[in-house]
Formats: sequence, structure tokens, C-alpha cells
Amino acid sequence: MTEAHEYQALYRKWRPQRFADVVHQEYTVRTLQNAVLSGQIAHAYLLAGPRGVGKTSIARIFAKAVNCTNPQQGEPCNQCEMCKKITRGNALDVIEIDGASNRGIDQIRQLREEVNFVPAEAKYKVYIIDEVHMLTNEAFNALLKTLEEPPRHVIFIFATTEPHKVPLTIVSRCQAFELKLLPPERIEKRLKEICEAEKINASPKVLTAISYRARGALRDAIVMVEQLASYKGSARIEEHDLYEIMGLASEETVTEFLKAVLARQGRKALEIIADLADRGKDLELFVDELIEQTRDWIIAQIDGHPPLEHVSLEALITLSTQLLNLKRELGRAWEKRILLEVKALELTQGGLASSSPPSASTETKSSKEKPLKKAHDEQAAVGSSPDRWTQLLNEVKRDRRGTVHALLLDGQPVELPDTLRIEYDPQHTFHKESLEKHRKYLEEVAARVYGVHQVEIAFTTDSAPRRKSKSAEVREKAELLKKAFDGEILE
Ligand SMILES: [Zn+2]
Repeated sequence: MTEAHEYQALYRKWRPQRFADVVHQEYTVRTLQNAVLSGQIAHAYLLAGPRGVGKTSIARIFAKAVNCTNPQQGEPCNQCEMCKKITRGNALDVIEIDGASNRGIDQIRQLREEVNFVPAEAKYKVYIIDEVHMLTNEAFNALLKTLEEPPRHVIFIFATTEPHKVPLTIVSRCQAFELKLLPPERIEKRLKEICEAEKINASPKVLTAISYRARGALRDAIVMVEQLASYKGSARIEEHDLYEIMGLASEETVTEFLKAVLARQGRKALEIIADLADRGKDLELFVDELIEQTRDWIIAQIDGHPPLEHVSLEALITLSTQLLNLKRELGRAWEKRILLEVKALELTQGGLASSSPPSASTETKSSKEKPLKKAHDEQAAVGSSPDRWTQLLNEVKRDRRGTVHALLLDGQPVELPDTLRIEYDPQHTFHKESLEKHRKYLEEVAARVYGVHQVEIAFTTDSAPRRKSKSAEVREKAELLKKAFDGEILE
């Protein structure tokens, strides 16, 4: 093979070529291999599963196995002309279509024309349609006509990361498989094999770290190793190289941040976030790292090796739950840094105390911060009249909705028949926009406190808000943050 000397991406080079080489998809692989062995081949298969777990690799192995001139126990031989052509991607009868590309519909039209012709050289014509859920309705309809009366010599293999978006009329005509995310141990084992064979000098620690980072996608893990290898040349790859290249925070930073949260050191936590943001670190990944570290601590604690002094298991579990909630919110947030900051402050200001028993003595600095928080609520209540508003604010706080609480502090309640109207100064566009995202929750809490069924979020004047300058917006956020932090009204 001439391409042996050409550069090949590591993951492409290590793409499995036999069913036996596929990692962790045993059920799917065994069923497909048995189908080849018994000759009972279905007309259409659907491989559903997350990205990077082997969908297209399995599809190609299957295409080879059914067409191999010398199959062995249902495996392709990888030696015959057919196998070689399919591996190289130039077999006439194995056609790959990317459902996500604009050419998708043209390719499906072409498929409709060609599907009835017998294969040019192979036994079966195999159509592999990747990201099939991305096809247009027109393309699906064209496909469906073919699937209703499939020619004997044709096999469809559909791959998708989002099976729920594939029309049922298609799914019901397929034999479907669900592929799984790989556990870190399986990824790590594979990475070790690859590094050994490729003479890549990597510390065991960095391989473990990559295996966790890859979140079940072997391909992502291999790509990370490749990037690190080209970054380091022949030098040994260490764990800190991974943090550097992936925009991750170091383990020390993660530990430092969690300790600050547990010790109620709000300012310290904010400093760490600011530092990470300044250095361009990915804040969502940072939260993932926090979750992983907390999880490790919980396991250590359960195993009887408390990782930290004076921190209870309950406190760690509470923290872990809050971080998982934060991760969900962060994924949807358009302003990740401010949300992370507000949440970090919430965590350092009693978010933990409210849900862990008093015996969980994680607080060292809380006594200083609590009275301020209380004074803050009273101040807000004075500015907004009736007692019910205070009650609503307290409910929100009890629900540990720190962001919503901070946003509400600047709002003015107006009670209308069956509606609670929350008004903002037209300057507060950020407040209004952010609060809109919590409307469902607000309606729930307003029903509890006010007995109303609707919440309206509006500006105090009828005039449309002007788009603010960047600096005004930054000021607004800073103001919000400051309030959430120590309850001082801005000068
Ligand atoms: Zn073969």
C-alpha cells in the first residue's frame, strides 16, 4: 500500500479494521458479526450513539465483512482487493453520504437513480449515511421510497448522534443499535497500546487525565494524544501539557477553588475565576473539572480516606449536586463568566449551609458574611413595599436560585389582577433579559406567594430599551455581582 508512507492522522491510522478491534461495543459488534456469519443480512441498520464511539468504523467494517472475498469467522480479511478498496475509501459499491452536508439531497437523488443497478464489483452495494438525522424532509421521503422496496443487493447503514430526530418511518425499517460511551479505563488501555506502538513518550498520569477528559469518546482521546505529541515532539508529555493545550485549569487551581468555596472565601473564588478568564481558559471545562475533583473526594471519603479536614461527606455531596446544576445552567448561558461568578458567590454564601446540617462544619468565614446578607434582604424589602415581595425573595433564596435572587433585587413588583409584574429601569436590560430565562420558575414561585398565574417582566417606562454601550452593560453586571456578593448598594 502506497499510503503507508504518507502522513495519517493518528485516529485514522488506529481506526479499527476488524470487529475484534472495536472497543466497548460488544453487543453491536457480535450481532453484526453473527449476521455476516449466518448470511442473514438486514436491509437497513441504524447505529445510534454519541460522537467518537465508533459508528462509522463499525459501518465500514460491516461493509467489508459482507463483501470480503475471504471472510474469516464473520470478520473481513483486510487482505483481498475488496477489503483494501473499502479501507482506502475507493470501492465503487460502498458509498458514504454525509447527511449534514448540503450535497445530501443531491446524493440521495442520485442514490434513488442508482440503487436499482446491481453492484459494479462487490456482492452488496452499501450506503453509509452519516448524521442521517440532518437530512431534509425531501431527502427522507426519497430515502423512504427506496426503503419500502429495497433491492436485494442493497444495504443501508445509517449513523446518527440524535436518533430521536430520525423519522419513525425510517427507524421502523431498520435494525437499530445503540452505541455506548466508553468508560475511561477502556480508553486509557487503548491509549497505552497506541503510545507504545507509536513510541509516544507520555506519562501514565497524562493518559489517565486524557481518558477522563475524553468523556467517553475514544476518537477525542486519540486526537488529544496526537495534538500533545506534535506539540512536544520527542519530549515526554506530562499532565500540565494537557492543561496547557486544552485550555484547562490545573489540578492545583481546581483544588484551590473548591477549598475556597468550602471555606466560604468568596473573594478568593472570584479571583480564581477572573484569573482563568483572563488566561482564556474554558469555564465550562473548569466546572467539569470541579465536578470530577469533588467526585474523587467523595469516593475517597467513602473509602475512609477523608481528603480534607473538617469537611463532611454531606457537604461534599451537596457541593457536587450544586456543581451539576451549575453545569446544566452554564451550558445554556450566554454570559458564562458572570453566571459562574454569581454561582460561586452563592456557593460561598450559605448555599451550602442551607442544605447541610449544622454539624457539617465546613464554614470558617461564614459568620462574617451572613449578617451582611441579611441586611441586604431588608434593604431590598424597604425599596419594594409589601411584605409579600420579601417573602418571594426569601422563597427564591431557599430554593437556592442565587442568580434569580440577585436579579430580583433590582426589580420592582407591581401587583396586577392574576399577574405579578416585575419592572426594571430601562437601564437594566441585562437584568430583564436574564430574568426572562427563569420565567417558568418565577411563575411557580409567584403562584406560591402571590397566588397569581402569570409573571410579566417589563421596563418601568413604555419606551423601548436602547441598546446599551458595552461599558454600561459591564457596569450593570458589576453592580449585580457586587450586590450578590456582599449586599452593598452601589454608591
Ligand atoms: Zn477481504
